[in-house]
Amino acid sequence: TDPNELVRNAIRSVPDWPKEGVTFRDITPVLQDPRSFRALIDIFVYRYMRQRMDLVAGVDARGFIIGSVLAYELNLGFVPVRKSGKLPFNTVAEEYKLEYGNASVEMHTDAVLPGQRVLLVDDLIATGGTMVAASRLLQRLGANVVEAAAIIDLPDLGGSRLIRESGLPVFTVCKF
Ligand code: IMP
Repeated sequence: TDPNELVRNAIRSVPDWPKEGVTFRDITPVLQDPRSFRALIDIFVYRYMRQRMDLVAGVDARGFIIGSVLAYELNLGFVPVRKSGKLPFNTVAEEYKLEYGNASVEMHTDAVLPGQRVLLVDDLIATGGTMVAASRLLQRLGANVVEAAAIIDLPDLGGSRLIRESGLPVFTVCKF
C-alpha cells in the first residue's frame, strides 16, 4: 500500500478535544505501529536524502520525535525549538499569536551557525503560526531554513499557504 495512505489511515481523529467543535488529529497511533512509523520516517528520508543539509530543527514536543529520528537517519544534527522557559543556556525567543493570547518559542543562541542549512519539522500545520515563528527564530540565528516539513496539513486553516507566502517551502505527508 501507499506509504502516505498508511500514515494517514493510522492518524486518530478525536472529536471535541481540547474543546468542543475542534477535532484533534492524534499521531500517537502512527508512532505505535512500527509499519506506519517506518513509512512516515521513510517518506521524509527519501525526500531529503539527496539535499545538502546540516541540521534538523524539531518543534516542541512531537517535532522532537520525528525530527530526531530523521536527523539520525540523514546523518544530521538535531536542535530543539522549545516552548519558553525550558532551555538552560543563553536563549533567543520569538513571540507569536494564538487564538487567545500569545505564545513563544525559544532556542539556544548557539544552536545554529550562520549559513547552516536547516530543515524545520513539526507534526502538524494549523494556522502556521508556530512554523512561521520557529522559522523567524532560526533566521535570526543566521540559519538558511530550507523547508518546513510536517505530517499533517489542515489546509482550510491557511497555515501552509501563509508559510509559503513567507517564502518558506512546505512539505506535508497528508491533509485533513
Ligand atoms: P499552528 O501554530 O496554528 O499551525 O498550530 C500548530 C501547532 O499546534 C503544532 O505544534 C501542533 O503540534 C499543534 N496542534 C494544533 N492542532 C493540532 C492537532 O489537531 N493535532 C496535533 N497537534 C496540533
